[in-house]
Amino acid sequence: MTNNTPLRIWITGASSGIGQACALTLAAAGHRVWASARSTDKLEALAQQAAAASGTIQPHPCDVTSPDSVRACANAMTEAWGGMDVIIPNAGIGYFNPLQEAPLQEWQAMIDVNISGVLSTLHAALPSLIENKGHVINIGSLAARQVFPNSGVYCATKHAVLALSESLRTEFRNDLAVTTINPGAVNTPFIDRTTNEELRANYRPQFDEGMEADYVADAVLFAVESRGRGVVSELTIRPDRR
Ligand code: NDP
Repeated sequence: MTNNTPLRIWITGASSGIGQACALTLAAAGHRVWASARSTDKLEALAQQAAAASGTIQPHPCDVTSPDSVRACANAMTEAWGGMDVIIPNAGIGYFNPLQEAPLQEWQAMIDVNISGVLSTLHAALPSLIENKGHVINIGSLAARQVFPNSGVYCATKHAVLALSESLRTEFRNDLAVTTINPGAVNTPFIDRTTNEELRANYRPQFDEGMEADYVADAVLFAVESRGRGVVSELTIRPDRR
């Protein structure tokens, strides 16, 4: 397999932001993208956008907090396309709040999506990935390496993602490529989920001035197409100077 071979790529959280940009960029490069999320209407629109440019994006519903939903999605992909070459467990959420003020449900929701969801996705994808000597591209964050105020549990979930990447790299050295992309602020709806109105308003400008999701998608494409030359094991990207 060369770095020009079209790959079969599953992206979770493909209905918005970074996942959506990755789906479009990878499809435009000729790869086949299995795009999952809960918002199937947005995925359908994405599939049509790709098809208009002769790209392949196959929408499939998937709630990463449900292991059954994740397994069904992985099975549907491997049945339809005969296997999987790349997994991008991108679905992730953040609720920003000081630790003392955060509702417990917000912590649990981040753990359910950002850790348990990533684990379920990897568990469902690994057999086919190992068989195909495939590639795991985890979406970490600057928060995987640093801890910031008002986002302690989010940072903890991203530290877990990075630890998982390192564990996969160590255990499957001869069978998988493993990449962690650690972006700083990216201009997506990510921060709009924060229920603390004051913090949401304070943080929004940082995200408005952040990187465009396309830039993260270009980094993912670079990592995917490094096959045969080397492995990007960790890549940190930050907003440019202004
Ligand atoms: P968005 O809010 O734009 O997108 C989040 C995606 O996750 C959506 O497609 C959403 O789809 C999906 N999602 C949320 N909950 C679930 C669920 N239960 N099951 C399936 N999918 C779900 O955020 P971003 O694009 O910014 O974030 C993508 C990733 O990038 C996350 O892992 C985030 O932590 C990370 N990141 C973001 C940064 C930023 O500054 N924006 C910086 C660093 C990392 P739907 O609701 O349709 O299910």
